[in-house]
Amino acid sequence: MKQIAIGKMFTYFYTESKEIEGCALDDRLDNFRIEIRELLKKYDMELGESWTTFFGLEKFSITNCEKCDQLMMNRDKNPAGLNDSELNADINMVILDGGESDNKLLCEECLPFTHRWGHSS
Ligand SMILES: [Zn+2]
Repeated sequence: MKQIAIGKMFTYFYTESKEIEGCALDDRLDNFRIEIRELLKKYDMELGESWTTFFGLEKFSITNCEKCDQLMMNRDKNPAGLNDSELNADINMVILDGGESDNKLLCEECLPFTHRWGHSS
């Protein structure tokens, strides 16, 4: 039975508002897409769709876990998280929940399980 395999791959990078507002970011992303299409061809794959969305690091309390470096959102400071846009539905695979424990910012995987935002809580 013939099937189609559709995969998701998330990327992230840090940028500045001025790069977003200018065309430098468009050029950077266009060049990336050209190169990724060439790479995918080697594996008989196609780039189905891609999009980029931006989140203010301070606004959403996004940082890296101090233990494992995973992107995380400090839910102690931002208990509401992201809005419920469809575009944000998979973001929790990239930006884990997290919080503060013993003066360290830790993702849900590294927090003690008794912490409100700990993985097992
Ligand atoms: Zn972690």
